[in-house]
Amino acid sequence: MPPLFSKTKETLTLNTVSFADLKLAPEILKALTEAGYTTPTPIQAQAIPVVLSGEDLMAGAQTGTGKTAAFALPLLQQLMQHASASTSPAKHPVRALILVPTRELAVQVEESVKMYAKYTNLRSLVVYGGVDIKTQTPHLKTGVEILVATPGRLLDHIEQKTVLLNQVQMLVLDEADRMLDMGFMPALKRILALLPRRRQSLMFSATFSNDIKKLSEDFLIYPSLIEVARSNATSENIKQKVYLVASEDKHALLAKLLKGDDAKQVIVFTKTKLTASRLTRQLQREGIEADAIHGDRSQSERQQTLEAFKQGKVSVLIATDVAARGLDIDHLPMVINYEIPHAAEDYVHRIGRTGRAGAKGTALSLVSPEEERYLVDIEKLIKTTIEKEQASVQHVPRSERRPASESREPREQREPRPAYHKPVPNKPAHDPWFDKPYVPKVTEPAPSTSKPDFDAVKPKAQIPALFRRSS
Ligand code: AMP
Repeated sequence: MPPLFSKTKETLTLNTVSFADLKLAPEILKALTEAGYTTPTPIQAQAIPVVLSGEDLMAGAQTGTGKTAAFALPLLQQLMQHASASTSPAKHPVRALILVPTRELAVQVEESVKMYAKYTNLRSLVVYGGVDIKTQTPHLKTGVEILVATPGRLLDHIEQKTVLLNQVQMLVLDEADRMLDMGFMPALKRILALLPRRRQSLMFSATFSNDIKKLSEDFLIYPSLIEVARSNATSENIKQKVYLVASEDKHALLAKLLKGDDAKQVIVFTKTKLTASRLTRQLQREGIEADAIHGDRSQSERQQTLEAFKQGKVSVLIATDVAARGLDIDHLPMVINYEIPHAAEDYVHRIGRTGRAGAKGTALSLVSPEEERYLVDIEKLIKTTIEKEQASVQHVPRSERRPASESREPREQREPRPAYHKPVPNKPAHDPWFDKPYVPKVTEPAPSTSKPDFDAVKPKAQIPALFRRSS
């Protein structure tokens, strides 16, 4: 059996290499200068020459390392010879296919490709599910050299014969580990069977499981292997910390953490869509500008929320793993795991949202006793013992608490609030709403009232969260 990889390149510090040294065309260099890129990141310095040489590539790169440009720049360089100013669709066949696991990542990757291709005559397009397929077809028909797609939607286009892949000469599988996790293997196989056998294939993955190695054996031919950081490692720029806390105290602890000075823009991860929605409403009631992205929200709602978060209109983005996949937020200072993931690889992906492109970041995890076994797996995977602190939350005496039956909102109030647009007044850490006796909807103040309903209610007690370091 041939060796899996033809050669292994050790991690190199290539500080002295410039983009011009990498033999990129002036049109591409101009776009990079405009984007403010001065030096290639390590993955770029290593991957670009390999891709330009025409070899297949298996790259282990964490998110935030600049991996998109690592494949997009040499891909554009390779396709430059086919760039045409002609308006004829026949002059713009799909020559490069970039497959990604989620819609958000698809949009992000295509935005980057477009930016780098700005001064070339190469066209790009993104297609993903969740939007009317008919809106994508006319764009496809005009002809594009670079197509970024999620596997399911690409198959829809293939079935409807709105895309032809017989001239694809470059294939990129981005975030391949996540594509496997999300069950895209059958779709990938179907798509790959339709591509010309003579092509260059590149695979990027944050983690290197045995399944990923198997996938690379199936799809790549004698690939070069590049790893810019130890596989499955987490960035050294990220300060990680675990708060050991009872499940029922997580919300109070989170609210406290979100009010800290360094929590100006935070992604909070939950395991389920339900927790994401519930938590968002709770935080909004407390005056925290939070909004959620998860699979139950429409694509346009997700995009809108994401934009608001990127622009700083929303300071806390609550996300499930799938929705947050591949998100690239410039200088995101903090992520918080409200619930830690059961798959240790997801931890690496989640915290990789912060500490990107050399910036510093903080990753906090709220871990209940029931979750501690997953923490063991995570520490094993990242080969690091994460700093831990016992968080104790001071409780309101039982006599002052409301009965559990009153702790739920009336159904009418449980409808999703219009997101982020409404300015919310600063509130104390504990929302007096929770002390309010149950009031049926009919007696609620009219919506025209200038004050939120809980303003009128006197708080009974605060629930301050106190932290003490474990010895
Ligand atoms: P990625 O890992 O591809 O998601 O990239 C992470 C972030 O780094 C993105 O915001 C890129 O725009 C940025 N970036 C990529 N390459 C460079 C570079 N050479 N110099 C500065 N920023 C970069």
